[in-house]
Amino acid sequence: MAVFLNRSQSKMILHMDGDAFFVGVEVAKNPKLKGLPVVTGQEKGIVTALSYEAKALGISRGMPVFRLKKLYPKVIILPGDYKSYADYSSKMFDIVRRYADDVEEYSIDECFADLTGLEPPLKMTYRQMAERIKKEITEELGLTVSVGLAPTKVLAKVASKHQKPDGLTVIGQDEIGKYLSETPIGKIWGIGAQTSVAMMKKGIKTAQDFVMKDVSWVREHLSKPHEAIWQELRGVSVMELDPHSKTEYSSMQRTRSFHPATNDEVFLLSQFSKNMEEACAKARHFKLVPKAVSIFLKTRDFQYINRSFNLISPTNTPEPLMALVREHFKGMHMKGVLYRTTGVSLLGLVPEGAAQNDLFGGTDRAHKFEAVHKQIDKLEEKHGKRMVYLASTHDALKSKGLGTEMEDLDRDLLFL
Ligand SMILES: [Mg+2]
Repeated sequence: MAVFLNRSQSKMILHMDGDAFFVGVEVAKNPKLKGLPVVTGQEKGIVTALSYEAKALGISRGMPVFRLKKLYPKVIILPGDYKSYADYSSKMFDIVRRYADDVEEYSIDECFADLTGLEPPLKMTYRQMAERIKKEITEELGLTVSVGLAPTKVLAKVASKHQKPDGLTVIGQDEIGKYLSETPIGKIWGIGAQTSVAMMKKGIKTAQDFVMKDVSWVREHLSKPHEAIWQELRGVSVMELDPHSKTEYSSMQRTRSFHPATNDEVFLLSQFSKNMEEACAKARHFKLVPKAVSIFLKTRDFQYINRSFNLISPTNTPEPLMALVREHFKGMHMKGVLYRTTGVSLLGLVPEGAAQNDLFGGTDRAHKFEAVHKQIDKLEEKHGKRMVYLASTHDALKSKGLGTEMEDLDRDLLFL
């Protein structure tokens, strides 16, 4: 591989990634949970995040809560507290901004920062900056993060993954090959499942096998975004940081708790309605519409009652959505039970118009469903089962970068 860059031309990009972030925040809020198997996702009925201790037991993300309770009765199951996650997230990014001006918030718990040229003014090495950021996050917020430093964004991602949790990995220009030969091609940021299978058929097993290919091979066999990844893996920075980019808004949640707990149907529905209005207002602000809605009631005894429904016609106006909530509410509300919280989530957000043109394009009803299923089949074939709505969100938001195969989309939900 012939890449000759001297240090003055080379960039220094930091990638920071929260360790088991949602659970990390829960432990920061309640340090008694430290060292215990803890999961979040009670309100959704599936595990959304898990501590390393829970992972060690064999629990994984997406496991239904009822199964978890049966198999691992000692695991602590918490509801997601998205307001706190967003708070900790912005505090974490603020700490990174003490050192760097160019910070790209990539997801709720991940950012890139360009540290290039900051050694003289800050009077410290890049490694020291990363150490300081880690230390301040741990001391001030009670969280641990893993950090990677490398000449490009794609390599910084490789670096931050290299050692987790609480890791710090620096990949210098002359060490790239060593790290890449340890990294399977499918683990590279932006290389999706389909592409990695195709590459493996061509004998490319590791990222190092990929960078050994020459540019004409890359252009002949792969798309433009993959050429960018190839460049970045070689240590040539071609992907700019976007300090203004925001996370894809794939879901929005609003909840309300009240004292005293109540059974009053009119009051509870009014709380749902307020949540819905706020969530819809936010969705309209970003010109997004949900394809599904999920609602919950929490009892005084912290039991959750959930309902989810798909929308035939996606909308971000609260009235039609509240009509559906009222329908479902009848089956959720029980006599004599006191409730303390209501919550509404708009799920599978896509840009206004995209939902209709994209998935719901047919004229008559039968046609619609047919079109939907065809489209879904196609998308699933292309992106894998879990990517369906997120991939289209990603596409339509024109979130820059690497097209529809970004690996982290399915967990990068930013809850407003
Ligand atoms: Mg993380």
